Amino acid sequence: MLDKRPYEPLDVGTLPRRLAAAPGLAHRIGPAEHWRVREVGDGNLNLVFIVEGQLGAVIAKQALPYARCVGDSWPLSLERSYFEYHALVRLGQRDPGRLPQVHVFDQEQALIVMDYLTPHVILRKSLMAGDVLPLLDRQMGQYLARTLFRGSDFAMETAHRKRDLALFAGNVELCGISEDLIFTDPFCVSPRNRVTPGLEEDAAALRADRALKLAAAALKRKFATCAETLLHGDFHSGSVMVTAQDSRVIDPEFAFYGPMGFDIGAFLGNLLMAYFAKAGHDAEDHARAAYEDWILQLVEGVWSAFEAEFARLWRTERTGMLGLAELFEDGGDAEGAEAALAALLRDIWRDTLGFAGIEMHRRILGLAHIPEFETIADLTLRATCERRALAMGRRLMLQPDTFSDPRHVSRLARSVRTV
Ligand code: ADP
Ligand code: MG
Repeated sequence: MLDKRPYEPLDVGTLPRRLAAAPGLAHRIGPAEHWRVREVGDGNLNLVFIVEGQLGAVIAKQALPYARCVGDSWPLSLERSYFEYHALVRLGQRDPGRLPQVHVFDQEQALIVMDYLTPHVILRKSLMAGDVLPLLDRQMGQYLARTLFRGSDFAMETAHRKRDLALFAGNVELCGISEDLIFTDPFCVSPRNRVTPGLEEDAAALRADRALKLAAAALKRKFATCAETLLHGDFHSGSVMVTAQDSRVIDPEFAFYGPMGFDIGAFLGNLLMAYFAKAGHDAEDHARAAYEDWILQLVEGVWSAFEAEFARLWRTERTGMLGLAELFEDGGDAEGAEAALAALLRDIWRDTLGFAGIEMHRRILGLAHIPEFETIADLTLRATCERRALAMGRRLMLQPDTFSDPRHVSRLARSVRTV
């Protein structure tokens, strides 16, 4: 698409020349000679540039043959860009407007040029700043329902879905990172793990906790074998960008076919950790209590919006091989379809809780920690906040059946927060 040369990483200097020929780009953002290029600093794995012209701006994201945050000692193939591109397109079709539109994809250069989201900020930062986002729960709940339902055999034409399943089965390398870093490392001794000083004994106790390891093993099996729908695959609060009115989803390079509860659980697990981190940053006062309450309402709201939208799609778009209207509506048993929906939602809820719990463990015991906790300067206080999150996460992993709905999750979070 660009000049037909072998892969070469872009930099601020070479980018305008290399991208000048990309079809439609000058039309979109103005002539290349006026482009201003900045590198965005906070990417973990890839190079990300903002390219601003006289008419507008785009993001240019390019994979490197290694993980950017670690360097060339951690080689990673360029193919992740191919999976990110295909996921951006599919997820964007399933919930139109919720993901940046792709303008250029160059497979050889492992490069995606897409909408620049502005004035959006990363949700994680917004939660740390204490912003209230009144539409976030609905927008994210609907996004989850639409992408998870529409990528599954409940909705998709089966030959098409199987082709996609085969395509995303190629994302072996990034799936492998999740398999190791989320489901295995945190529960054993590994050189990649790290814990906050003061939490060593807690970590050792959890790694000796057979019930917890059995739950982690069961969740890993589900993750690896239940190819239910196309997942984002890394759906945490760093993969959502927000304004007060709008929420967008970025960075689906970990996309693959897996269980519906995985994306929902990762998201809710991160919201719960944001909740537990607040006590490490702000004095205990009315404003903090109000914000903590809002985060818990958000957890409840995301699930209710998911459930409502999922039910709507179930009733109106159940056109896939697993839709089974033959068994229910067509035979005059519409109530049977509602019973099937209720059973399915119960399953997804149960998985969601388990995956939320495992996300909370891996961010505290594993390699990739989250800024909400990492920026708590007082290490004793940080360890206390993390210990509470672990206690909650353990309950979610071990006793998902004891939570009949998200209000029970909020209730437990409140009671754990005060220990
Ligand atoms: P990586 O996969 O390397 O972690 P991300 O896709 O998360 O990279 O992008 C890194 C950062 O670049 C994001 O945290 C965000 O600040 C910025 N960014 C990425 N995509 C966009 C976009 N479409 N619009 C605006 N900013 C973006
Ligand atoms: Mg990424």
